[in-house]
Amino acid sequence: MNYKISQRAASLAPSLTLAIDSKAKQMKADGLDVVGFGAGEPDFDTPQHIKDACAKALADGFTKYTPAAGIPELRQAIADKHKRENGLAYQPSQIIVSCGGKHSCYNVILATCQAGDEVIIPAPYWLSYPEMVKLAGAKPVIIETSDRTEFKVTPAQLRAAITPNTRLFVLNSPSNPTGSVYTPDEIKALGDVCVEKGVLIMSDEIYEHLLYDGAQHRSVASFSPAHLEHTIIVHGFAKAWSMTGWRLGWCAAPAPIAKAIEAVQSHSTSNPTSFAQKGAVAALTGPQDHLPKWLAEFSKRRTYAFHQLNATPGLTCVNAKGAFYLFPNISQTGLKSADFCARLLEQEKVAAVPGIAFGADDYIRLSYATSLANIEKGLARIKNFCQQLKK
Ligand SMILES: *Cc1c(COP(=O)(O)O)cnc(C)c1O
Repeated sequence: MNYKISQRAASLAPSLTLAIDSKAKQMKADGLDVVGFGAGEPDFDTPQHIKDACAKALADGFTKYTPAAGIPELRQAIADKHKRENGLAYQPSQIIVSCGGKHSCYNVILATCQAGDEVIIPAPYWLSYPEMVKLAGAKPVIIETSDRTEFKVTPAQLRAAITPNTRLFVLNSPSNPTGSVYTPDEIKALGDVCVEKGVLIMSDEIYEHLLYDGAQHRSVASFSPAHLEHTIIVHGFAKAWSMTGWRLGWCAAPAPIAKAIEAVQSHSTSNPTSFAQKGAVAALTGPQDHLPKWLAEFSKRRTYAFHQLNATPGLTCVNAKGAFYLFPNISQTGLKSADFCARLLEQEKVAAVPGIAFGADDYIRLSYATSLANIEKGLARIKNFCQQLKK
């Protein structure tokens, strides 16, 4: 049979991360002692009261379709969160709950972009953004950044990338894969450019609560009514409540865009899982005391890893003020990222994600969402690997 694959699907980049990941899993299954730095999710369990609320909903028979955009109670709790934490006055009707932050991003792009449109994405980027833009038939326009600017794009760079076809600017602070956090002033300056040029901002704020060294999160929507009008916030439960498998995220958008997103979702996935939504209500309205504990643990690991990486020959690493990733520069080793990671896995049994997957071939991504003992062991092996390279 000669299967015809749509151009849409055929245009997607094959997942480079998957190759390394499946090899690492195979090595583990073969009984080898592999240290994994690949995790894109917290290594903590979902807090108990959230699980309890979900279990109760299930026991109570809350197992039927809900409104496509989510249950009113959850949309209200999300609107309340934005009011309380971000000073933003969204109506619950402007909140669309989806099957994960990733799904929210995809809905936003599908609802706002089409053939002929350009979407500006700073690199290093979360690897799904450009592929989603391609799925919508639009064109990703990448702005390069480096560790010299802590991977931050400047207003001048953004301005230079904008054309009459620019539809959307993707902002992700704190960032996956770099952990970089824009200051409030930097966020405002980028927002100002978008307001002036009439460009929408998709602001992925899923790592909002994972901040270190006194870093501050400020939503670009919060600077003025004009900023609010130009912004679509994407957020979710995966990171700050460790609910990756629950598949729950949301977006907060100007009313006409929220309506369009709701229409897209109502004809594709319909509502996110009913009883999971009840857990999400508990996540937002219940105690948040898990967070300081997780942050203290993440911060300890981050500080250790930062010093170890900078004490490793051939590597340099800027410290990251958010998320749970470090993004060391490997250019002095003379290896490109895919080669570096393949050899590191082969020789030292350490799995890291090649930066090329995020549009940055001189770097690798290390997640510290794993125990300090693992981090110590893995970084010792990376040091050994780099010392061998020097010989
Ligand atoms: C994890 C993540 C998301 C959302 O993930 P979901 O599991 O789909 O909620 C969105 N953006 C970035 C940058 C992420 O790292």
